[in-house]
Amino acid sequence: MERLIYMDNAATTPTAPEVIEAMLPFYEQRYGNPSAGYDLGQTSKQAIEKAREIIAASLGAMPQEIYFTAGGSESDNWALKGVAESQGYRGNHIITSRIEHHAILRTCEYLEQNGYEVTYLDVDEWGTVSPEKVANAIRPDTILISVMTANNEMGTIQPIPQIGNVARHHGVLFHTDAVQAYGQMPIHVDAMKADMLSASAHKFRGPKGVGFLYVRESSRIPPFVHGGGQERKNRAGTENVPGIVGMGKAAELAISTMTERSRYERRMRDYLIREIMRNIPDCQLNGSRFNRLPNNADFCFAGIEGGNLLIMLDEDGICASAGSACSTGEHKPSHVLRAMGISEELCRGAIRLTLNEMVTVEDIDYVVDRLRENIAVLRSERADLP
Ligand SMILES: *Cc1c(COP(=O)(O)O)cnc(C)c1O
Repeated sequence: MERLIYMDNAATTPTAPEVIEAMLPFYEQRYGNPSAGYDLGQTSKQAIEKAREIIAASLGAMPQEIYFTAGGSESDNWALKGVAESQGYRGNHIITSRIEHHAILRTCEYLEQNGYEVTYLDVDEWGTVSPEKVANAIRPDTILISVMTANNEMGTIQPIPQIGNVARHHGVLFHTDAVQAYGQMPIHVDAMKADMLSASAHKFRGPKGVGFLYVRESSRIPPFVHGGGQERKNRAGTENVPGIVGMGKAAELAISTMTERSRYERRMRDYLIREIMRNIPDCQLNGSRFNRLPNNADFCFAGIEGGNLLIMLDEDGICASAGSACSTGEHKPSHVLRAMGISEELCRGAIRLTLNEMVTVEDIDYVVDRLRENIAVLRSERADLP
């Protein structure tokens, strides 16, 4: 296979070799069920608890506040539905933003069909949710505020500690979807004043299909899967032992390499942004220039269809994304970019490039060259139309 240049790390990341190595024994000789009392089972149990400790420590949390799930979508569903169910007696109003991941937005729509009221906050042109707007939206019947830590499309980082302060000041529970942020920037649940936080292993070089939900010990939410006693009776089912072990290893790696890695990625990202702006006419960077994830460059190119550009990039051995991965095939302009006030027409030309620590200057030069040429071709084809 030809060399692949992978610039879609917001969709998923390559599993780290150290992670795979840590997981393998739990598929091979250490296959015991963690609920079994004999040694083979207890080996699995201990491995899970070690992962829980690593993840708790990475957030400034306690191990008993971490619940393992099947990923970011499940964690988001659990947080929202759990609070709705357990706090329903106090009120039925939830506050979130227009730029959340569909795991939040679709869950909110589901709750709306079931008698809950949801306020979807607007964002400014950089994609920022204002803490003042959050404060103004709070009502006596508000039971939950959910605002993501950083956005998966244009990478804008939200003022989470300030929003958390507002929530706490009003005695409202606060959840944040940190799926994109975890492993890329320091996350501390006390500094964020977060009562709940979602993350997913495959976004930080861990395996797919495993994640966690942090729930502050004082806030408790009802069980999500009923059955056996796993996850302290809150999420039944034999644990994904290799996955959890892999996530623990990925968390350890992400935390220990964060400072250096994010400094490198930020440098590469800024180089990519500069080169695109310098070489390709009629483009705009989406989101905040500075207050964005270190690996994210999201652009709109006027006069093209992002989907067509992706196909050409694929032929050039480049993986990128047009809008969010979850909406490819839907051909709907991104709800995130629309919420930032970008025209429907311009949204069609959106391309997201998200880097990792393996991307080099040569990779970026090649990608910018292919972008420049492919975009010129697409624009000239369009100009030829009658
Ligand atoms: C990827 C992502 C999710 C969903 O996570 P999965 O593990 O794929 O279910 C949720 N929220 C955000 C912000 C994401 O980027």
